[in-house]
Amino acid sequence: MTYKPDLVMVLPKYDLHCHTTASDGVLSPVELVARAADQGVEVLAITDHDSVAALHQASAAAQAANMRLLPGVELTACWGSRVVHLVGLGFDPAAAALQRYLEDLTELRTDRAQRIAKKLMGRKLPDLLPAVLELAGDGQVGRPHFAMALVAAGVCETEQQAFKNYLGTGKVGDVQMAWPAMSVALDLLHGIGGVGILAHPTKYRLTFTRLRSLLTDFIAAGGDGIEVSYSGIKPEHQRELQKIARKMDLMVSAGSDFHQPGKAWVELGRFLPPDPECRHVLSTLL
Ligand code: AMP
Ligand code: FE
Ligand code: FE
Ligand code: ZN
Repeated sequence: MTYKPDLVMVLPKYDLHCHTTASDGVLSPVELVARAADQGVEVLAITDHDSVAALHQASAAAQAANMRLLPGVELTACWGSRVVHLVGLGFDPAAAALQRYLEDLTELRTDRAQRIAKKLMGRKLPDLLPAVLELAGDGQVGRPHFAMALVAAGVCETEQQAFKNYLGTGKVGDVQMAWPAMSVALDLLHGIGGVGILAHPTKYRLTFTRLRSLLTDFIAAGGDGIEVSYSGIKPEHQRELQKIARKMDLMVSAGSDFHQPGKAWVELGRFLPPDPECRHVLSTLL
């Protein structure tokens, strides 16, 4: 009888991509941990946009729920003129280099918010900046806060519509910023003991040919892995990404990209598991 030796580590239930009020999520870090615990999540990485503030706020709740919190972040970066998101995992969250890096991103985000507000006023819309900053609170300000403010002001019916008409790629609120290059973000993560994962590769509106060229540059810059499973990805795209990951020797990662309750198809810990034949980033982090 032949059987495959069991070299595959059995992973706990996990989620390596989600958001809180520290960026554009709706739940506080404590609420997010409670919801993840309800869903049976045992290992969680909170990956707010350009912020690690939630980690500290969630740690006591996670400990009480017997949940392991991994340091995580979703860094805004650029590949040429395109914006890409890099999920950083397993780094030293107290590193001074990280704090400085995130401070620069906070400045870029604040600056961008002012510019977006001005651009929208140029379209005869009211000044949304005060409402946007109120919505963002202590967290990183982002376009989703503008989407909420546009709905609250009665300009748009839904946040989706706000992106379609005002905030999405090529629209008036899509303000170009000098985000750090992908290689700079990866150097930062490696310098503080972490790994860098390309977030949601199918969400950049690239053909698979262009995506392979992005991944070639990503690998040259030291990239460690790619997300292959997240809400909204088609099963055939997941299979294609897993094939690419194996071929390019990249690790794989997965997470819900949860932002808020009430979306039936997005839940913490819920996504198709990656192919066990792929090298999972979590097995290097536990
Ligand atoms: P920012 O990092 O501030 O540019 O905002 C990016 C975030 O906006 C993403 O992480 C999503 O949460 C959200 N987002 C981007 N595009 C859309 C869209 N078309 N509809 C709804 N939300 C979107
Ligand atoms: Fe987001
Ligand atoms: Fe993202
Ligand atoms: Zn995200």
